[in-house]
Amino acid sequence: MSSNWENDLIIQRLREYLKIPSVHPDIDYEECVEFIKKQAAELELPVKVYEFVAKKPIVVVTWKGLEPELPTIMLNSHMDVVPVNEEQWTYPPFEAHVTEDGWLYARGTQDMKAQGMAYLEAIRNLKKAGTRLKRTVHVTFVPDEEIGGESGMGAFVKTKEFKKLNVGFELDEGGPSPKPNAVHAFNGERTLRHLKITCKGTPGHGALSSQMGTAGDKIANVLNKFVKFRETEGRKFKSIYMLGDLITMNLTKLEGGTQINVMPDQLSAYFDIRIAPSVDHVQFEKMIESWCTEVGDGVTCEYLQKNPPVPNTNTDNLTFYNALVKATNDMGIELQCIVCPGTTDARFVRSQNIPAISLTPFTDTPTLLHANDERIHVDVYKRGIELTEKILIAVANV
Ligand code: ZN
Repeated sequence: MSSNWENDLIIQRLREYLKIPSVHPDIDYEECVEFIKKQAAELELPVKVYEFVAKKPIVVVTWKGLEPELPTIMLNSHMDVVPVNEEQWTYPPFEAHVTEDGWLYARGTQDMKAQGMAYLEAIRNLKKAGTRLKRTVHVTFVPDEEIGGESGMGAFVKTKEFKKLNVGFELDEGGPSPKPNAVHAFNGERTLRHLKITCKGTPGHGALSSQMGTAGDKIANVLNKFVKFRETEGRKFKSIYMLGDLITMNLTKLEGGTQINVMPDQLSAYFDIRIAPSVDHVQFEKMIESWCTEVGDGVTCEYLQKNPPVPNTNTDNLTFYNALVKATNDMGIELQCIVCPGTTDARFVRSQNIPAISLTPFTDTPTLLHANDERIHVDVYKRGIELTEKILIAVANV
């Protein structure tokens, strides 16, 4: 740890949060909850902890506005992080080491504990300056985003406690930007489907002729259909930032068979599918079903995960969004709004007809979410806090 940062309380608070190993699987969130409670106490803000699912706490820190009856602003982050391959890191991922030149290495610097802390630091600065905002701000810290969020934000949005927050606009994670003076924001997400296709065929001796409708023949035909579709869709791909407008279908697992000289009675293929918001989901499902029918008898499809389609947040004439853009531009940062290639907790909030924008306030950062040597520069983090202050002043005074 470089001595340059030892007396920097902003960095020390962030490091303290990053050092908590809230890493999958089987996370004990207690240490995170205690840490956030301590932050809230320092800020003299009330904090509530809900547990709608056992051991899956949801922490809400509230800064009351001057007009608390107005719909509120929700700043969300998740407390969990994805696993690490420790040997492949330059510095241990839960030591939060800062180098001489200011790079803070830790799991969660990008996804997304630093963003959660930036929310609290922004409020700390605003309060210190005596600023009061019109709308109430709720800073939420949720569990399990990295494993689908069903027990975290997914459960929370269905409760009367969530309704009581009266959220009018939500901010969530978008990932840091590699550009020095631009951030991207997501106003929608693709819909996730996990699909299993099973092909049943005539079992028997591995030396038999192939004219008997084997499971192997059928699964090969199924895979061909997916490959063909992927080729057509893949031609539209230009950059990762437009992935949100495409359908991706990736074969992720194959299953079946017992021995190399025995033809199996069934073989299964698993696909990770992401459907762009512009796609008609009913038509899409019909297409997959027709592929199965075309391949022949004994071919079935089953959705292991079937998220409902959630409409994008419409940014046209959305005052909160315009305020967000203005605050960002005022800091000399361009904002590009696109559809998220992956999924975030914002989809649960959007499913309640609440506008939500996913935006991470960090620029000039190599994209290392879920990767080795995930890191953020201390200057970028501090500029992100400043941007968050500007955004808060803008959206909470709408
Ligand atoms: Zn995340």
